[in-house]
This record gives sequence, C-alpha cells and structure tokens, in this order.
Amino acid sequence: MTDSEYAALKAEIESYIRGPAERWAERIEREHAVAPQLWDELRERGYLNLAAPPELGGRGLSFLRYLGLMEIVAMSHAAIRMIVHVVNGTWRALDRYATAEQRRRFVIPSVRGEIKVAFALTEPGAGTGADLRCSVVRDGDTYLLSGEKHMITFGSICDYWLLFARVAGTVGAAGTVALLVPRNVASARVERMPESMGVRGSDHARMSFDRSPVPISHRLGEEGQGLDVALGGFLAPSRISVGMSCVGLARRAFELAVDRARHRETFGKPLYRRQAIGFMIAEMATDIEAARRLVLHAASEWESGSHEAQKLSSMAKLYATSMLQRVTDQALQIHGGIGYWEPHPIERVYRDARAQRFEEGTNEIQKTVIGREVLREISGRDGSDA
Ligand SMILES: Cc1cc2nc3c(=O)[nH]c(=O)nc-3n(C[C@H](O)[C@H](O)[C@H](O)COP(=O)(O)OP(=O)(O)OC[C@H]3O[C@@H](n4cnc5c(N)ncnc54)[C@H](O)[C@@H]3O)c2cc1C
Repeated sequence: MTDSEYAALKAEIESYIRGPAERWAERIEREHAVAPQLWDELRERGYLNLAAPPELGGRGLSFLRYLGLMEIVAMSHAAIRMIVHVVNGTWRALDRYATAEQRRRFVIPSVRGEIKVAFALTEPGAGTGADLRCSVVRDGDTYLLSGEKHMITFGSICDYWLLFARVAGTVGAAGTVALLVPRNVASARVERMPESMGVRGSDHARMSFDRSPVPISHRLGEEGQGLDVALGGFLAPSRISVGMSCVGLARRAFELAVDRARHRETFGKPLYRRQAIGFMIAEMATDIEAARRLVLHAASEWESGSHEAQKLSSMAKLYATSMLQRVTDQALQIHGGIGYWEPHPIERVYRDARAQRFEEGTNEIQKTVIGREVLREISGRDGSDA
C-alpha cells in the first residue's frame, strides 16, 4: 500500500468512525447488544483483516500502520474497538503453530471473517496463565475436556473457542494445550454474562465443560505448547495494540473536554479561560502524546525483533492504561456533574476506559514483567544474579 493509499484509508476510517460508527454506538447503548449487521459491515469494509498478511487473506499493513488506524477506531464505542482489535489479532495466536490443514480450516476463514474465534484463557477458579485448571484426558483420537472459563469475549456468539487447558495431572506451563473447541461441542454449558460496567453490548460468556469431546486434530502445537500459543508471539503485539486503543480513547475524551471547555461559561467566562482548566488540558495533551510515543517505540522495536520488545510492550500498555485513567478522569471533571449522566458521550468513554486495565494482563502483571526484564538486564550487565 502506497503512502497516499494509506492516507486515503485512514481518512475513510476516520469518517466512518465519526459518522456511521457513532450511530451504531447509540444503538448499542440503547439495545445493549451488537447487531450481527455491524460485524458484516466491518468485515465488508475490510476493517477486520487489516493486519494479517495477504497469504492468510489479509491486507498486509505493517504493524505501525495498523496502529495508526487502531488509534482512530478506538475513538469509537468500545464494543466496536473490541471487534476490530480481537479479529485483527487472533490470527497471530492461531497461525504460529497451525499445520497447513489447520491454516486452511481455521486461520484463513478467521481472517476473512467467515468464522469467529474467541480467546478463552481466564478461569473463575484459577489465576490467568500457568495456573489454569481446565483439563483434558485423552481417549483415542479425542480429548475429553472438563472445567470452566469466564469473561470470554464473543464466547457465546463465536464458532470456535481458542481454549487453553492442561493434560490432567500436569502443573505449570508443562502439559498445557491450545484447542480449537467448536462452539456446539457436546456436554458444554454456555451462558452470556450479565451486562458489564463498560464495553456494553459486547458478548462475554462463561462456559463449563464436562468431558466434552474435542478432536486431537483441533490442537495447535504439541502438548506443553499451549501457553506459548496463548502468550508467545501474540501477547506483545496485542499489548501494544491495547496501548494504542488507550491513546485513541483518550483522544476522544480530550476532544470532548476541549469542546466542553470552549462552550461552557461560568462567572462570565468560558471554562478554557480559567488557568485551572487550561492546565488540565495541557496535562492531558502531554500525557496522550507521551503514551503515543511509547506505544510507537514499542511497536517499532517489536517489528525489528528487538530483545527489548517484551519489556517495552508491557511498559507501553502499563503507561497507556494509566494515562487513560487520568485523562478520562480529567475530561469528566471538566464536564462538571452533567458529564456523569447519560447520554453525554464522556459518561460512556469513562466507563469503557476502565476495561482496558484488565485486557492482555493487568497493570500488576505488566509491572511483574517489566521488573523481571529490568533485573535480568542489570544482572546480565554486571554478572550478578539479581
Ligand atoms: C471486558 C473484558 C473482556 C475480557 N475478555 C477476555 C477474553 O476474551 N478472554 C479471556 O481469557 N479473558 C478475558 N478477560 C479476562 C481478563 O483477561 C482478566 O480479567 C485478567 O487477566 C485478570 O484476571 P482475573 O480477572 O482472573 O483477576 P485475578 O487473577 O483474580 O486478579 C485480581 C487482582 O490481583 C492481581 N493479581 C493476580 N495475580 C497476581 C500476581 N501473581 N501478582 C500480582 N498481582 C496479581 C491482578 O492484577 C488483579 O488486580 C476479559 C476481562 C474484561 C474486563
């Protein structure tokens, strides 16, 4: 894609996000649901296969260019951002270990938007990651899957769950498996979760399995590679993409706050003429720009294969989510009390922003990763075992 083609695509997406997507946002908030037509519209407009390479049916945008578009998409309703972010990222987890047959059956149809794949890692009874308890026992060519998952985005409307479990009796990362479990698998209970604080209308499910049969041919990679499918090549770009989503949503909050500050008068002057408000606007603009630069730096290090990419992706996500909290809080403050009420867009933006601190690892987990990497670098330099 040439520079001018990219600029045209960016302009097209911006006009979609500021126009039709806002009307979808109102409908989602009203109906507390995402209509299937919205999925179709996003797919037909080519917004769900931006990041995947052409050989998988994608448009093959570089990661940096994709992020430039993600910033704009994230200015919209969180349910729309969630669809674009998830579908443009899932192929990374699927493809690394896919056989040619699995690529044909699962990866390419997912990139084309012909099937929906939900990422199912989190469990109600365990920590996220090596602690997982969902388990499988082998029975000939089949695994019998038992256990529970919850908070799974698109979990009740998907065609497959990319589900992480462990071979019964194993502990830690050893023995973990990644399985493409058909949504209509036998002996499973699937329930749509109640409405969440933000990201309204987005489908989230809890599921339980009782010896549900899953063909062994639906396993990605080998036994023991499950967590690498979940976290390996997928997590760093996904964290960076969430970081850029925070920048986009913060930009929306900023625009709303500036508009309010220019038009609301108190004691004979518009709010923006008060130094207290002007300082808030200055802090917000600085915070957003700092986060954008860190996210883009992490992205270019990741694209160039730098050994610092993992640390930087966690730093970018940590900083961007914290920035988003600060910026949405200041933006709401500038609106005064009325901003706390629907249908003021800042009310929705404030609620939506809170979700991002949980996605792709909480801030506490990002700090754990950063601390570990920093100490490793220090001990590598001075030969100590810090
Ligand atoms: C809107 C939304 C969509 C989601 N979509 C999905 C999805 O599609 N698929 C999916 O698998 N999951 C999904 N999740 C779940 C999300 O990934 C988890 O909420 C997140 O990983 C945290 O896990 P937990 O909720 O089990 O928190 P817990 O593990 O119960 O943690 C509670 C608190 O303790 C902290 N904590 C936990 N362990 C440690 C530790 N070892 N060291 C320090 N602090 C720790 C956490 O940071 C957190 O603050 C979604 C969540 C939300 C809110």
